Amino acid sequence: AQRNPGQPEFLQAVTEVMESLWPFIENNPKYAEHALLERLVEPERIIQFRVSWTDDKGQVQVNRGFRIQHSMAIGPYKGGLRFHPSVNQSVLKFLAFEQTFKNALTTLPMGGGKGGSDFDPKGKSPAEVMRFCQAFVSELFRHVGPDTDVPAGDIGVGGREVGYMAGMYKKLSNTAASVFTGKGLAFGGSLIRPEATGYGTVYFAQEMLATRGQSFEGKTVSVSGSGNVAQYAVEKAMELGAKVVSVSDSSGTVYDAAGFTTEKLAILMDVKNNKYGRVNDYAKLVPGVEFLAGKRPWSIKVDVALPCATQNELDEADAKTLIANGVLCVAEGANMPSTIEAAKAFEAAGVLYAPGKASNAGGVATSGLEMSQNAARLSWPAEEVDARLLQIMKGIHAACVKYGARADGTISYIDGANIAGFVKVADAMLAQGVI
Ligand code: NDP
Repeated sequence: AQRNPGQPEFLQAVTEVMESLWPFIENNPKYAEHALLERLVEPERIIQFRVSWTDDKGQVQVNRGFRIQHSMAIGPYKGGLRFHPSVNQSVLKFLAFEQTFKNALTTLPMGGGKGGSDFDPKGKSPAEVMRFCQAFVSELFRHVGPDTDVPAGDIGVGGREVGYMAGMYKKLSNTAASVFTGKGLAFGGSLIRPEATGYGTVYFAQEMLATRGQSFEGKTVSVSGSGNVAQYAVEKAMELGAKVVSVSDSSGTVYDAAGFTTEKLAILMDVKNNKYGRVNDYAKLVPGVEFLAGKRPWSIKVDVALPCATQNELDEADAKTLIANGVLCVAEGANMPSTIEAAKAFEAAGVLYAPGKASNAGGVATSGLEMSQNAARLSWPAEEVDARLLQIMKGIHAACVKYGARADGTISYIDGANIAGFVKVADAMLAQGVI
């Protein structure tokens, strides 16, 4: 804490991992050597820069840009860019730290990184968003490269923004190297990448449910968020026979007792992705749904909860409400949406609980598949990418079971994900010496 003052999110993420690792390292002393842990909590490099751009009124705006290059131990730095007013060094350091473990879990050769800006895309015109993206890349471009650092999207950064940034990177570097993932299909993007995080989260939850002889068929499911991850989590859960009863954003929750349909999801996607609207705008277009202003979805009685919005959106009180309502499984599509106390409450109550670094790894895994396709100058069919995604999620689940199985036969996905990710990164660090 003394070394990282004012960084509560980073300390939270590190604390959660360290609590899993202590007992493991005590039993496996080779990992206590060479200051492995001390090195792992120190990003290899932090880049912070000014982003100046001109808005539609001709006013000059100044934002802060960041790239945290956390670990290159098993491959180029890899992780998304977030554009949101809450972005600061603490948030990005927590995300880059978690990303390092998550990327290791995918088994693909990717290190960990994260970046972004405190720029708020809400209410900005498309031309302003483009100018901002170009200004951001005018500094970022010198720090990234296909074998150095490969950014992608995250909150506030979707296909449109990645396109603007990839275009500016080409212009500045005079290479067509694929240095972003999440690109459009017309210039090197992968099929299933937009769907991957949401689908992967549901695939992971399906594996968790199967450990108790259950499936999504007939289950009631709440989803928070309404962005990229949330939308495809809704789609896949519906496809597997679940009734999805909520989506949300920072203004409130839409409760739909009858459940989502394909038609309703298409309306939500149009409102969010084409009109850059709010869930309240969606609620006005769909009869029979209720808008709960300022509320999160966790008071709704469900079998499965999929938090897909942002960090710390589910606290201990929310967890207790979900538990009291009989929740069976909680799989995180977002990064660190549950507080440490909430996660502990789920595990103590015997709820199947998966931390984001395991259950949402399908997004970055498919980014890894996009990198492979780009390197081979090939484009795989959707079925092939989807099948690989499913296999990777099953593999991550198996790794969590291997390292997280308790004596009583239950599984701590927290311990499993943290230890499995750590072992891979730590072995790579040990092999490469003190650098
Ligand atoms: P989007 O920008 O597409 O959607 C973000 C959603 O979260 C929106 O509904 C947004 O609502 C809500 N949200 C954001 N900040 C807040 C906040 N402070 N309070 C309440 N709600 C908020 O982002 P993604 O869907 O890509 O990302 C969602 C989560 O998933 C993040 O935690 C991200 O790190 C994680 N993730 C994403 C991956 C990806 O491939 N995209 C991969 C792995 C993890 P509003 O519009 O009101 O802000």
